[in-house]
Amino acid sequence: MQITLLLGAPGSGKGTASARLVARLGLRHVSSGALLRDAVSGGTVAGREAADHMARGELVPDALIGRIITGLLLAGGPGVNWLLDGFPRTVAQAQLLERVAAEAGGRVSRALFLDVPEEILVDRLAGRRVCPGCDAAYHVQTLPPRVPDCCDRCGRALITRPDDDEATVRTRLAVYRSLTAPVVAWYAAKGLLTVVDGVGTADAVSEQLMRVLQP
Ligand code: AMP
Repeated sequence: MQITLLLGAPGSGKGTASARLVARLGLRHVSSGALLRDAVSGGTVAGREAADHMARGELVPDALIGRIITGLLLAGGPGVNWLLDGFPRTVAQAQLLERVAAEAGGRVSRALFLDVPEEILVDRLAGRRVCPGCDAAYHVQTLPPRVPDCCDRCGRALITRPDDDEATVRTRLAVYRSLTAPVVAWYAAKGLLTVVDGVGTADAVSEQLMRVLQP
């Protein structure tokens, strides 16, 4: 089991890049945010515990997301190569992932960090529209859907994510700076980090990521 991580602030393009990479590299993609949104809309026990934290733009407890991700990785078995997007988001989650990967006979083989300045993140999140069905992301100016307000992939009506409002975005960026930026430093200290310029079109960013993953 090899695990590739896609790290970056909210709005850095992790979801968009992941969708393009998994199609080309045969990795199994897990978005922790998408899993949690499904749990919330499905009204599961985990979803009920997560909902308020997510609505406030805060992280859900490490134990909660840790259980979900651990269950998936262990159930996948040793032959699966994963692309994790949105996990880990705290150093405690990174430490848990290290233990679970070792238990499953695997390891985190690299961490890719999508580097995007904060003013661009704010602009991207303000213009972001997402599909509530398949979680595909668009931007009203830079990445519009082919048919206005409809998902290219599954045709559902696009929405603005409730946590993309201005006040919640401010909280999410502050949470990122205090709890998730140290995760980036943690992988850098382990020699596993590659920084990729996340500014530019979705195509340009995914080409750069492909060059890192398949040199
Ligand atoms: P995202 O779609 O990655 O922006 O995640 C949406 C929300 O889900 C975040 O603002 C957090 O509330 C929650 N979330 C996603 N991943 C994690 C994680 N690894 N740890 C804690 N909370 C998370």
